[in-house]
Amino acid sequence: MNNPLLQSHILPPFDAIQTEHVLPAVESLLAEAREQLDKQLEGLGQVSWEKLAAPIEARGDKLNQAWAPVGHLNAVCNSEALREAYEKGRQLLTDYYTELGQNEQLFAAYKALGESAEFSSLNQAQKKTVENALRDFHLSGVDLPADKKKRYGEIQSRLSSLTNQFSNNVLDATQGWYKHIESEQQLVGLPEFAVAGAKQAAEAKKLSGWVLTLDTPVFFTVITQSENAALRKEMYQAFNTRASDQGPSEGKWDNSEVMEEIMQLRQELAGLLGFKNYSEYSIAPKMAETTPQVVDFLRDLAAKSKPHAEKDLQELKDFARSEHGIEELNAWDIPFYSEKLKLARYNISQEELRPYFPAETVIAGLFKVANQLFNIEFVDKTSEVQTWHESVKYYQIQKCGEAIAGFYFDLFAREGKRGGAWMDECRVRRSTETGLQLPVAYLVCNFNSPLGNKPSLLTHNEVTTTFHEFGHGIHHMLTKIDVAAVSGINGVAWDAVELPSQFMENFCWEREVLQFLSCHFETGEPLPEEMLNNMLAAKNFQAAMFMQRQLEFSLFDFLLHMQYGQAEFPGIQKLLDRVRDEVAVFTPPEFNRFQHSFSHIFAGGYAAGYYSYKWAEVLSADAYSAFEEAGIFDKATGQRYLSEILEKGGSQDAMELFKNFRGREPKVDALLRHSGIAA
Ligand SMILES: [Zn+2]
Repeated sequence: MNNPLLQSHILPPFDAIQTEHVLPAVESLLAEAREQLDKQLEGLGQVSWEKLAAPIEARGDKLNQAWAPVGHLNAVCNSEALREAYEKGRQLLTDYYTELGQNEQLFAAYKALGESAEFSSLNQAQKKTVENALRDFHLSGVDLPADKKKRYGEIQSRLSSLTNQFSNNVLDATQGWYKHIESEQQLVGLPEFAVAGAKQAAEAKKLSGWVLTLDTPVFFTVITQSENAALRKEMYQAFNTRASDQGPSEGKWDNSEVMEEIMQLRQELAGLLGFKNYSEYSIAPKMAETTPQVVDFLRDLAAKSKPHAEKDLQELKDFARSEHGIEELNAWDIPFYSEKLKLARYNISQEELRPYFPAETVIAGLFKVANQLFNIEFVDKTSEVQTWHESVKYYQIQKCGEAIAGFYFDLFAREGKRGGAWMDECRVRRSTETGLQLPVAYLVCNFNSPLGNKPSLLTHNEVTTTFHEFGHGIHHMLTKIDVAAVSGINGVAWDAVELPSQFMENFCWEREVLQFLSCHFETGEPLPEEMLNNMLAAKNFQAAMFMQRQLEFSLFDFLLHMQYGQAEFPGIQKLLDRVRDEVAVFTPPEFNRFQHSFSHIFAGGYAAGYYSYKWAEVLSADAYSAFEEAGIFDKATGQRYLSEILEKGGSQDAMELFKNFRGREPKVDALLRHSGIAA
């Protein structure tokens, strides 16, 4: 019993967890869970919440406590050995959850609980948990004949392995390429911090000169700042062909076949369960009601925004031609000349703003916003907890001096850590036999790390990302629901999940907030009035082009999962081409294989669900407009948002919660206004 994953801890014992603990822990916990379930069902008698749902929740939480740190480490400290153990453990868990979802005896017991006299006396969270469980049994194939049940299990198991392989290929392809540069001349245009970072990257590889990697912040800086068009092109090509049949690593980590098999299996799965296609299956537990409703929503928004996006692009082309003599704008020129145009028009650039946003100031500002809105305090407890890297911080959230939640903050990019930014749960709020378990979250970003005694400096985009993930974090952590299945983000319809995250982004554009969110790392000055004005004036710069990009991804994802395998399906690349013809204002070069690293839909939870970002942005923009009307730090509005949305978690339907907060159904107006494309 020396396995730390089998012991109970308030927080994961990261110092003690070793790869060799993973599989024995999973195997032992699953054997125990199966045995306990059998015993429970045998002696069940008259069903009740206490006898049925409570022990199920407790076992699920125990498994989660062991598994959450493993999944987390696999994402932030990836190694060959951990990857292998993770993959095996994930398979075992997938099989177990399939078995649970198809257990007819368990299903019958939940049905009996739903029809029992006790049901009406359960609280809202408990009722919703039972209703969700009954829905999910059907979605797990509990009603299927034995042979189809078996096939369902095989498909889930294979999908688990394929989606994992997809994201491993992306990670390997990202880290498997770098550009070694020996003459500083090649780096012309790059800001000082980026050159220093490239020097450090070269030293880490024991090379002379400089090394540029495909880590997002590095790629972003090169593509927007480098005066060297050949370098931009090379990096663009390497980045946009990752894990594909094209580009410098062509075929090496190719996801082509993985994607095809994932899609075949998803359609087969949907068919087994009686759905016309995977998109229809995907929206069954979501806010959206029908597939045409989603497609119409996306197409409608695209039609409204496209003329504005065309205008954006035309202006960029005119500018590049008249000011820089560029006749033909390539994909790798667009971000670069866009920055130049922004600078010319608004006298503002991402790089100029960066020195005003040291990570520490941004975090302090973020906490201040949360404090003013929700009356919560943040206490740094890093020295009291174990983490997985020296740069990781741990904060406790307190309300009126009492601890209510905690979170780890892992801000910087490093080797072995997946790209992007995300929030994940470590502990869920629930009442246990020994008292209340407080929620704990992982907040992960991939910013440039501090260099020497120079702090990490963020772009305003990265500031927004921090607020976004923090929004997910407080949805998880400020919940007052004590039933795990609907506490925090659990049980929230996926197309409403991006409401609290996108809601928080709005604060990064408030004059009042930017005063304390910014502080020049050398002079200590907040953003000067003129820069602030320019930055706010530039808020909607190319917003319509950005909107079309998001709609292109959303429509591609949704149509792919509707059409794959059907007579009208033209193939993955051709479908993407068609969607671009319809929605995009710029066609990327033929070698572009964006879809091969589209982890959201092939490896994450956004399959036939990428539309959720725009769908939920209607909600978040409309929710935020209530703050615009009352004052952004209006106490009553903040309290109402906290109590009607954040605290309720998944215990009620998202639409109901929204209406309770806003007093009416959502309207698209605020989103259009915020994006500068109001009709
Ligand atoms: Zn998000």
